[in-house]
Amino acid sequence: MNLADIKTITIVGCGTMGNGICQVFATCGYNVNLVDIDQERLDRAVKAISKSIDRLIKKEKLTEDDKTAILGRIKTGTDLKVAADSQLVVEAVTENLPIKLDIFKKLADICPPEVIFASNTSSLPITQLATATGRPDQFIGMHFMNPVPMMKLIELIRGIATSDETYRLIEELAKKLGKVPVEVNDYPGFIANRLLMPMINEAVYALMEGVGTEAAIDEVMKLGMAHPMGPLTLADFIGLDVCLAIMEVMHEGLGDPKYRPCPLLKKMVQAGYLGRKSGRGFYDYSS
Ligand code: NAD
Repeated sequence: MNLADIKTITIVGCGTMGNGICQVFATCGYNVNLVDIDQERLDRAVKAISKSIDRLIKKEKLTEDDKTAILGRIKTGTDLKVAADSQLVVEAVTENLPIKLDIFKKLADICPPEVIFASNTSSLPITQLATATGRPDQFIGMHFMNPVPMMKLIELIRGIATSDETYRLIEELAKKLGKVPVEVNDYPGFIANRLLMPMINEAVYALMEGVGTEAAIDEVMKLGMAHPMGPLTLADFIGLDVCLAIMEVMHEGLGDPKYRPCPLLKKMVQAGYLGRKSGRGFYDYSS
């Protein structure tokens, strides 16, 4: 398949990442099928995309006509079968291995043989997800960063069987989207989260041990290390459940106790304090 053959993308999962990925593809001129488990979530996702485009219109990066065209290219639905009409499927559902494997098994039956499969997983093994499709050479990790429309980086993760052809095609596509692809091999956490998550986890340990308050920990990293936001603010932004899931994958996959998730992080997730998306994490977002 060549880049010009790709016209329609199916994105599975319309949460924080799925709606951002949808916006970026639709803005680049692609038709997008956005699929999730219920229509209410999909309607919320389209509203989020519409708001995000409004912000870009205010900054004079897009026009009202662009908005109409972009939203016109997005179709939403709850039936995975629409993937049959696309050339690329990007999966962005909850970070849970059995759920993702099940979706890729279903997609393998639905999609024609030439379709390329990509996962936006933050940490799960690309090599293992690829096996579920029976076409591991046509499978790749496309790890977008949050917020997707703003962040330039995409980690492109090669599973053990990802073909050079698949890699080059998706590298070209990433550049067309205006992103900067970085080639990464398939090990738990890839590069971004292998470095980021232990820092966030250590910040939670520092909080648990009373080394400093939330604000103090964030301020030190912002002013001392020139990070644009502190690690606890960033964790709230990413989602504490996502952070915990990634630490667990790295702990198990790399087998090193230095990746053990902080008990306070586990407790926050058990309480449903998931960060911005639930209205409460290390900080309160209820207002
Ligand atoms: P989210 O919880 O915001 O959204 C997940 C979506 O998946 C929900 O809308 C849910 O309804 C949907 N879903 C669950 N099961 C489904 C199924 N069987 N079929 C269709 N849809 C289903 O999660 P998110 O933060 O958008 O994360 C999605 C993926 O992106 C995860 O793999 C995560 O690791 C990865 N990721 C997240 C971030 C981040 O900052 N949040 C960054 C990079 C990558």
